Amino acid sequence: MLLIAPPVAKPDAPPAGIALLAGSLRHHGVPCTLLDANLEGLLFLLDQAENPGDTWSSRALRHRHAHLVALRSLTLYRNRDRYQRAVRDINRVLASAVHSRPELSISLANYQDSSADPLNSRDLLREAEQFERSIYTPWFRARLPDLLASENHRLIGISLSFLSQALPTFALLGYLRSTFPHLILVLGGGLITSWMNSRDWNDPFAGLVDHCIAGPGENPLLRLFGIDNACEDPVPDYADLPLTDYLAPGPILPYAASQGCYWNRCSFCPEAAEQNRYRPIRPSTALTHLRQLCEQMQPMLIHLLDNALSPTLLQTLGEHPPGAPWYGFARVNEQLADPDYCRTLRLSGCALLKLGLESGSQHVLDAMNKGIQLDLVIRVLDTLHQAGIATYVYLLFGTPSESIDEARQTLAFTLRNHQAITFLNLAIFNMPRGSKEAVQVGGTAFSAGDLSLYRDFIHPRGWDRRAIRTFLDREFTRHPAISSILHRDPPLFTSNHAAFFSDCFPWPAG
Ligand code: SF4
Repeated sequence: MLLIAPPVAKPDAPPAGIALLAGSLRHHGVPCTLLDANLEGLLFLLDQAENPGDTWSSRALRHRHAHLVALRSLTLYRNRDRYQRAVRDINRVLASAVHSRPELSISLANYQDSSADPLNSRDLLREAEQFERSIYTPWFRARLPDLLASENHRLIGISLSFLSQALPTFALLGYLRSTFPHLILVLGGGLITSWMNSRDWNDPFAGLVDHCIAGPGENPLLRLFGIDNACEDPVPDYADLPLTDYLAPGPILPYAASQGCYWNRCSFCPEAAEQNRYRPIRPSTALTHLRQLCEQMQPMLIHLLDNALSPTLLQTLGEHPPGAPWYGFARVNEQLADPDYCRTLRLSGCALLKLGLESGSQHVLDAMNKGIQLDLVIRVLDTLHQAGIATYVYLLFGTPSESIDEARQTLAFTLRNHQAITFLNLAIFNMPRGSKEAVQVGGTAFSAGDLSLYRDFIHPRGWDRRAIRTFLDREFTRHPAISSILHRDPPLFTSNHAAFFSDCFPWPAG
């Protein structure tokens, strides 16, 4: 079986989804090959890019190979200006790779086509029919026939997790279906799962894809090979991915110790709206996996992919360091306000914690069932800061219970605590299609597409997207204390590279 991670996703780390499937298949004796089409497709486009003639593009093109080498070395991350220039130049070269196709825009983190909606199944199927037009088709032709000929692959599994991957994925499916009609095509991943969880799902890809899989793919894939009794918690297998080619100063090990969320009550959250079940791996098992993978991969950083690291997992990692610095999402809780506990976490390698604060208004937090108290958030931010653990704080504007007054409370809260906040992410609320609130406020789908996951709605307090943008542009981000936090954010890679700017690096050897 050939497992493919399609373009476009941030190219800083090997893809976790296909590595987990490989771990499961190989554990049961099913041979498989992993292909990171995202990374390889990106490097191909950077190699093929032509010079559109402007000064910036010419300079970026000349320096692209030096920038790629620099992005793989920690030295660059010690100089924020040089780092930003390297990322922006690489992105510029990528953009120039499609300069003859004005409808396309491509970056290190995104792929858009103004003539095709990735949330419309008809547009996706058209992308498959017209795969010849895809900017990736020259790479498909250069790479896939030999790879498929060298192994006797019967099945191709494609892991579609992000919207930025949707159009290239369907071009790839179209290429495979037309060139290798005998192959069985399987489509899974987070985005497919969300689509299939929708009440309106009517299997629009049945004529193109042989199997669409919702949720964890390990057992359904094994069943395709006639294996029913799968092991419970496979160890991801990153062995044949090009670990030193990713755009990071050393290998990043992505690892999920759970699926779903142990809290699962926030009213705005797609996890809750899709009623995804919480499936944790026992912390002791997760630790064994991490230590084994650290031994094999010698990662520079572990990215814990959980929606929220459980308190027991955090405690386990604090008491038993996994073997490399690590970061992930955590919920604010009393433990994180304990200085000794946070010092232990820091000593175990905790470089950064991502915290979903959402709002600086207790009223808004309570209305969205966030389950956190602002006085505790203040203590947690301060304790993490004192312990040397960086924070990446997520704020969400425009939830139904917010107005400009509550948004200003968020501004005031952020200003009061700005010294303890290392990075900030600002987002505007999207109403998940299946949420209870979507039913209450009504509205129409965001996109005309049948696969839209969010709804537009008339804000009950008149706090619409345009008003929020104006507030963010003219008030929130204007404040010098906030703009200096925002300025720290690594462009395009954002939280994926943020930990490398912490003083955890270089991590003591051994
Ligand atoms: S804690 Fe995070 S993942 Fe869990 S329900 Fe709330 S927003 Fe969703």
